[in-house]
Amino acid sequence: MKIKNKKRFAISIGSLMVLIIIIIVMAIIGINNQAKTIQASKEAQKAQVTESQKKTVEADAKNTKTQTSTVAEATVTPAESKTKEPDTAVTTEAPKINDSVSSNEGITQVVNKNHSISADFVPDDLVSVDLPSTRDTQLRGVAATALTGLFKAASTAGLELYCCSGYRTYETQAGLYDWNVQTYGVEGAELVSARPGMSEHQMGLAMDVTSASAGFDLLESFGSMPEGQFIKDNAYKYGFIVRYPQGKTDITGYAYEPWHLRYVGVDVATDIYNSGKTMEEYYGVN
Ligand SMILES: [Zn+2]
Repeated sequence: MKIKNKKRFAISIGSLMVLIIIIIVMAIIGINNQAKTIQASKEAQKAQVTESQKKTVEADAKNTKTQTSTVAEATVTPAESKTKEPDTAVTTEAPKINDSVSSNEGITQVVNKNHSISADFVPDDLVSVDLPSTRDTQLRGVAATALTGLFKAASTAGLELYCCSGYRTYETQAGLYDWNVQTYGVEGAELVSARPGMSEHQMGLAMDVTSASAGFDLLESFGSMPEGQFIKDNAYKYGFIVRYPQGKTDITGYAYEPWHLRYVGVDVATDIYNSGKTMEEYYGVN
């Protein structure tokens, strides 16, 4: 009996130790698993953040791509416009004024039917024109700043001017000229539209201006309206000339365009205004 008890005692102790060992082992496994779970959770979070960042970057890239293609796809839709110079809607970035003209052709360069600019010329200082406009349009910084002065002066005189059409790409001008040829024939088109590479609009130095009284259109009658008269008498003070004056078609090659302003700088504009000459006559070129 005594021996039997000892045996039982030994078995009990043995069982107890096995049980304790099992508990310890299970505890260790449990702690390990918990640690692993925490680790896994952290990694999952990290992965999620990375994925989210990646998605944000991808979304940004996509947005940029969309913006780029908006600019690239902006083309002229002449059929939708009643004006002789329908224009493109160019989507642009935030306005940025830059007076530098050094890296581009000079502001007094003559561009006409005999003097063209290259198809790939794009001014490097184009800015969105932040003025009343019938659509988004651009000019070179120096011309945009000057036009702001002219519009302010008009406003002070109780007149509201609107931008209609500023910078145009070579391709836009090509589409515009083609549309005019289809509509008016070659002879008619030549009077109202420049061939691609021969437009001051591609220089980023020309702006077509209109008013509510002109129905936001480009009309010859604009020249006799208060807004047109104001431009004729004051544009030079801000560096602009009315490039295609009345009765000068044989020299300029274009019909009277009281709306088409060309920036040449205040000194030259004042000289040209006082001389009563066209730009061709002033510089003695054809
Ligand atoms: Zn024009």
